[in-house]
Amino acid sequence: MRKDEIAAGLAEVEKRIEEACRAAGRERQEVTLVAVTKTYPASDVRVLAELGVRDVGENRDQEAAQKARECADLPLTWHFVGQLQTNKVRSVVGYADLIHSVDRARLVGAISREAVKQGREIGCLVQVALDDAPERGGARPADVPALADEIAAADGVWLGGVMAVAPLEEEPGPAFRRLREVALTVQERHPRATMVSAGMSHDLAEAIAYGATHVRVGTALLGRRKPFVR
Ligand SMILES: *Cc1c(COP(=O)(O)O)cnc(C)c1O
Repeated sequence: MRKDEIAAGLAEVEKRIEEACRAAGRERQEVTLVAVTKTYPASDVRVLAELGVRDVGENRDQEAAQKARECADLPLTWHFVGQLQTNKVRSVVGYADLIHSVDRARLVGAISREAVKQGREIGCLVQVALDDAPERGGARPADVPALADEIAAADGVWLGGVMAVAPLEEEPGPAFRRLREVALTVQERHPRATMVSAGMSHDLAEAIAYGATHVRVGTALLGRRKPFVR
């Protein structure tokens, strides 16, 4: 049964999060599990909700919008974690509670305008590039404080903190340590922007060791995704 499969995945991930927290001398409640449900059906989201998951993540607007509609009756917080084009902002603001991938000023303006129009308050995280791979998105660390200031000053949005994806060609630890430095710089100016979204299925323990407050986990919960065909 799919529910047993997902329950087993969730138990395993929960164990890994607990162990990582213990090793880092942190409390389990300091870390929120965001279940990344991309490519998996709304029925899986429903199972996750039955198992107590309250935070779900998606990375493509079209798929996410449909799933959020199908799951509108569930008590879920929706996190948009994928790269975001300004022409998708109207749709994403309609269902996302938080957007983790804010990496340029134009996007801040677009989200703010649309959130005000729709009467929403959207949590925004500044995505930080931890390497020089522009195709994966993210602002350069030097540009993050100004972007954080813009979010903090804009209507209809609130500054949550920072997010990153660890570089492929490097150990995750040092990369997450750099992210923590950026997070602390942001927090000096915005003490309530405490979210650090980092860590996925394979590197959640390292992320927790370096202060992640939100881990975004897909594969380890739901299984390997089929390659996405456009
Ligand atoms: C897909 C995705 C994840 C989850 O990755 P897994 O390796 O499946 O856990 C996390 N963050 C982002 C931005 C993603 O797109």
